[in-house]
Amino acid sequence: MKTILTLLIFLSCSFSNIYAKEKPTDQPELTDNNLETYYIGKKKKNQLIFNTDYTTPVLSYRIYSSGELPKHDPANWVLKGSNDGKKWTVVDERKDQTFCSRFQENLYVVQKPASYKIYMLEASTKDKGVLILADVCLYDKNLEAEWSSFIYPNIDFQVLDPETEGAKFYNKLVQNPDEYIKYHAKKVAEILYFSADDPMTEVKNIKYTLEDKKGVSAKGGSSPNIHIFYSTQHIEKSTKESLFKLDFETRGVLYHELTHGYQYEPKGCGNYSNNKTFWACIEGIADAVRAEAGLFDMSTRRPGGNWMDGYRTTGFFIQWMKTKDPDAIRKFHRTAKDLDVWSFDAAIKSVFGENESIEGMWNEYQEFLLKEAASK
Ligand SMILES: [Zn+2]
Repeated sequence: MKTILTLLIFLSCSFSNIYAKEKPTDQPELTDNNLETYYIGKKKKNQLIFNTDYTTPVLSYRIYSSGELPKHDPANWVLKGSNDGKKWTVVDERKDQTFCSRFQENLYVVQKPASYKIYMLEASTKDKGVLILADVCLYDKNLEAEWSSFIYPNIDFQVLDPETEGAKFYNKLVQNPDEYIKYHAKKVAEILYFSADDPMTEVKNIKYTLEDKKGVSAKGGSSPNIHIFYSTQHIEKSTKESLFKLDFETRGVLYHELTHGYQYEPKGCGNYSNNKTFWACIEGIADAVRAEAGLFDMSTRRPGGNWMDGYRTTGFFIQWMKTKDPDAIRKFHRTAKDLDVWSFDAAIKSVFGENESIEGMWNEYQEFLLKEAASK
């Protein structure tokens, strides 16, 4: 999650309380990009001041729920702006908000943006009880701009084995599975495509089942109708450490499987079961999306292997290409649609120019990994 946040262009997450009459407790926890540390507010109306001398208007913001019970989530709030810390103007107001899961971001586009030096979020829970928040981030960009016309898939969520411990843990983590899956569908599309108006592999219906089976997760069917299975046994294993660990794993797996729904399939190189290049492309891109979402432990990244190994070996490589071009994942993915005969080399040439090659790019990546390993 940390990676997602640091990769985004954000105006500021820094926070201070110079203008607050009384210091709310634990304020830095709100802006540390760590969803496991919380701001706890014990007032009926909690005032959180964001004072970093803003020079451009805040156009959108994200609020992250904590890992605590949903009754502690913010439900009603106003975002206010001020230039002197005395006179405040409402720029955004929300009522009866809910979060579809624990550790969940909600993104809001500011309704009445204007230039202010400082901002204040005045928030309370549904029953005006103890407020618990993981993070708040204010942005000088409308992060929804390219994506407001995204068409969400229909979700058919089924718990086939509700008596399992895994199903119960999932319930603790996810309060609204339909919204949770829809949210991730859009996030996957945002990583694979430039905007909601891009020609996109259409996903209309997602059947998502929790089942008491061995394995982790798998995607069946083919777009526009797909089925994703998630193992309650795997959920149980992941929860042993913490609810946060379960969240990290559940989202990570979902990013991977949903990518299979939304991604282009490479052309002119066989299919998933009979061609290794096709397979490595499909599984590599799925893990590149998961890595880009910040849902891999990147300390597991090591030198070695080959770009044809698929999964995270290929995925980390594709994601690393973003160090050369911020749109590298989107461009690399697009080659699957554009090239008549897809190969890793042709894809690299298409993204970075005819002088580049897959061997050259891989070698450069290996050098980077060796340097990284040496500095540890
Ligand atoms: Zn896969």
